[in-house]
Amino acid sequence: MYFCDSHTHTQLSPDSDAPLESMARQAVSLGLSALYVTDHCDLMDGTGRRVTQFDWPAAQTQLGRARKEVQGQLDLRLGLELGSAVLDPVIARDILAQGGDELDFVLGSIHNWLGERDNIDLYFTDFTGDPALARHCLDRCLEHTWTLVTQCPDCYDSLAHIIYPLRYIQRDGHCMDLTDYEDRVRAIFSQVAATGHALEVNTCRGNNLTEWPPLLSWFRECGGEYVTLGSDAHRPQDLAKGLREAAELVEAAGFRYLTTYEKRRPVPRKL
Ligand SMILES: [Zn+2]
Ligand SMILES: [Zn+2]
Repeated sequence: MYFCDSHTHTQLSPDSDAPLESMARQAVSLGLSALYVTDHCDLMDGTGRRVTQFDWPAAQTQLGRARKEVQGQLDLRLGLELGSAVLDPVIARDILAQGGDELDFVLGSIHNWLGERDNIDLYFTDFTGDPALARHCLDRCLEHTWTLVTQCPDCYDSLAHIIYPLRYIQRDGHCMDLTDYEDRVRAIFSQVAATGHALEVNTCRGNNLTEWPPLLSWFRECGGEYVTLGSDAHRPQDLAKGLREAAELVEAAGFRYLTTYEKRRPVPRKL
């Protein structure tokens, strides 16, 4: 089976210090067919400061070095995790255009409170004992995701970790999922499907698997065809964690292939 991790970070992300070479060597040792490096470019950084560019030259240099090291053993591809594109689609498009021909894949993310709570990453919010805040957070993230898929479909290829808020809501003791938001999630998925985009099954380093079966069923029922898989590893030892299990969930939901992207076009790979 074609086995690919489509969501990984390196030292070019603020929250990772892994050189791409070490991620690539780990991918080879795990027997991966392909590895996408998708470093963060959030138009709002973790602390709520605006960002207007990505260091493409550094990404290209790192990619070139790592490709030499794993030549013939791994298909190493350049992607980007573009966060909060909805804040400023013009800047988002400009950043993507600067990626040039080497840019194969774009994940579309929402990590931050936007327009409230100092725009910080949800990671920094304490949801403990405050279910109303947790529900408000889910509400806001789904609203921004809806804006992304309806107004900026050119700013992403695969919709990254739609369950991102649940990482921290569950961390802080709430047993919540997206069941209460089914209609809104289905509306988002219908839009993703209708515009020929993918849904990402993000395992969060193997920690998030049980959340995905209902979401995959909804996506399929909404006409979804393309699914990408990512571990969201920020260090070599987390690479590809949970991906085989995730592939089984995708197959069980009735999908016949997984998808990778080349030059931002979907390439279905038979399961
Ligand atoms: Zn992310
Ligand atoms: Zn990520």
